[in-house]
Amino acid sequence: QPANDSRTADIDKKTQSHPCYSSGAACSNARMHIPVAPACNISCNYCNRKFDCVNESRPGVTSEVLTPEQAAEKFVMVKSKLKNLKVIGIAGPGDALANFSNTKKSIELIKKLDPDITFCLSTNGLMLPYYAEELIALGVSHVTITINTIDPTIGAKIYREINFMGMKLYGEQAAKLLLDNQLIGLRMLSSRGIVCKVNIVMIKGVNDSHIPEVVKKVKECGAFMTNIMPLIPASGSVFENMELTNNRDLTEMRKKCEVDLKQMYHCKQCRADAIGILGEDVHGEFERNSCKGCA
Ligand code: SF4
Ligand code: SF4
Repeated sequence: QPANDSRTADIDKKTQSHPCYSSGAACSNARMHIPVAPACNISCNYCNRKFDCVNESRPGVTSEVLTPEQAAEKFVMVKSKLKNLKVIGIAGPGDALANFSNTKKSIELIKKLDPDITFCLSTNGLMLPYYAEELIALGVSHVTITINTIDPTIGAKIYREINFMGMKLYGEQAAKLLLDNQLIGLRMLSSRGIVCKVNIVMIKGVNDSHIPEVVKKVKECGAFMTNIMPLIPASGSVFENMELTNNRDLTEMRKKCEVDLKQMYHCKQCRADAIGILGEDVHGEFERNSCKGCA
């Protein structure tokens, strides 16, 4: 139908101009992460969101957490300075769907200010089946789901705990629920035309040899591309001393998986408050409170 055709054309256009989804747009278009989602509903063994420093660049790090109203105010300020701002993303510092009321409110406020901006978010996928319809209704066009494995035995080594609507689960039972919800959510969104990227953290000796299987599975569920990223174990996390994946192994894995699905090669593993062109983060210029320095 014509309405669907114009929605598809609009999403295609947004994909072309999204610096993460199109390497062509990466050098020219800016994105702004709004850190409005502090809580998380799972515990990954590589995460420690307590560590917070303006000089550190990795997912989960932010200098400040904003309310939806503060995020909208900051958007106005950033937009007035960065004319190439195309994308608003919600990437933590926790999980966008574990803080759904903040996520929703922020999108609604910013959409009123700029109806043409692209909205994307990233999630661990635990609550995706429950919020997929609302995300579509809100106009979110791009969603990233981190799916590190499709095998609960491996999942039990990566996820320490899952808090599913107040119920704590552990081990393979927890991993199974998470993995099922990730794949159901991915199918729900991609079947409705939402462009889904799947992030896979490559963890040596844990999920590395299993990654090609994950890529095949998420392709079958409709993923647009996968972004295989090297583990950055946070200080104080369970995986703190884990052996790291080198660039050669990472590139080899991406090349191997490219036979099945488009791969992202230009991810910068950005902070939850990153602003600007990928790799040229200017979040510090827009901070409401300046950095107090590291302890
Ligand atoms: Fe940390 Fe993200 Fe894992 Fe939550 S989903 S524990 S914020 S890495
Ligand atoms: Fe894009 Fe990767 Fe940065 Fe996310 S972490 S905004 S996918 S470059």
